[in-house]
Amino acid sequence: MTVRREIPFARPWITDDDRAAVARVLTGHILTHGPEGKAFEEEFASFLGAGAHCVAVSSCMAALHLASIALDLGPGDEVLLPAETHVAAAHAVEWVGARPVFVDCEARTGNVDVARLEAAITPRTRAISVVHYAGIPCDMPAITRLADAHGLSVIEDAAIALGARIDRRHVGLFGDLGCFSFYPVKHITTGEGGMIVSRHPNLAERIARIRAFGVDRTFAERTVPGLYDVPVIGLNYRMSEMQAALGRSQLGRIDEIMRRRESNFERLAAGVREIPGVRVLGSAPSGARSDSHYVMTVTLEDDAIDRGAVIARLNAAGIGTSIYYPQPVPRMAYYQAKYGYDSALYPNAERISDRSIALPIGPHVSGDDLDYVAARLREAVAA
Ligand SMILES: *Cc1c(COP(=O)(O)O)cnc(C)c1O
Repeated sequence: MTVRREIPFARPWITDDDRAAVARVLTGHILTHGPEGKAFEEEFASFLGAGAHCVAVSSCMAALHLASIALDLGPGDEVLLPAETHVAAAHAVEWVGARPVFVDCEARTGNVDVARLEAAITPRTRAISVVHYAGIPCDMPAITRLADAHGLSVIEDAAIALGARIDRRHVGLFGDLGCFSFYPVKHITTGEGGMIVSRHPNLAERIARIRAFGVDRTFAERTVPGLYDVPVIGLNYRMSEMQAALGRSQLGRIDEIMRRRESNFERLAAGVREIPGVRVLGSAPSGARSDSHYVMTVTLEDDAIDRGAVIARLNAAGIGTSIYYPQPVPRMAYYQAKYGYDSALYPNAERISDRSIALPIGPHVSGDDLDYVAARLREAVAA
């Protein structure tokens, strides 16, 4: 008889050091725009390397919104983005009045199909926004070549790809702007939070000001306390000092977090790849590319397998699952109502949304847990 296990899909990994870091901020008097936020930005930049300029913000949605604003996207502009992504990337385009133009992904990786991106370019296209699906980097050299050839900006949604690299260069630094998330179950967390990164210091500087009401002087730069002017329209998308302190403490463990996710992914993949009718999303290892695994997405290739039944069996066995992402974004009610939906345009995104299951590989999962997940999945698809 198999002993039942309880394996949550994801769980934030919070240590005593993390708790102490937050408590230290609370024993002081500076709860926002202080030294923790500045240090977190600097440490994140040094982790990414290659001249990264980083601005800590309140979420990845905020980072994506700031990206649209900073690149002056607006009415009349089209932004290409993957159909298979988090809705935040589309909302960020929609909020500035630009038009999202959705492009199908590759069946193999879940990442945007570069040939289809090229085919979707029109005279109104201003930017390409991509997501590194489940921690597997998109083909950024090809995407930036395409963007350069057409004079387009590039935004990278790296919310679930912290640490992923191509030719040792981190994702987020190939395009003009990269956006990260520190939501509780991402690679590292600040509760809520995000980071926007750029190789262009002027763009990062501009974003830092828009993030804080558009004021011309930061708190530290004011010679007369309370005195500032506002040359541009802004928002309040700041990250608090408690969040930044937690982020610094978490970032200190990033290598271990990535190692655990990587070895969990490999161990689960070894079991799952043996199961008939099930495919693991991803692509063959390449010398140039270094993945930073986030979840394992498996697709049920045999149409006779009932996904709902498989999920119910896994959940009943104590295994938490999810779906990345539950719908192609253009099929979501808001976007479908506004722009209409043509199913024929997104066969791969539909297949991933409708035929995949995301399995846990976070640092909370043990090797025995992973063997259990693979065994239960094998039974669930055969049942
Ligand atoms: C989680 C996620 C987001 C949103 O991040 P928040 O920090 O919660 O705003 C955006 N894009 C992707 C790909 C995500 O997975």
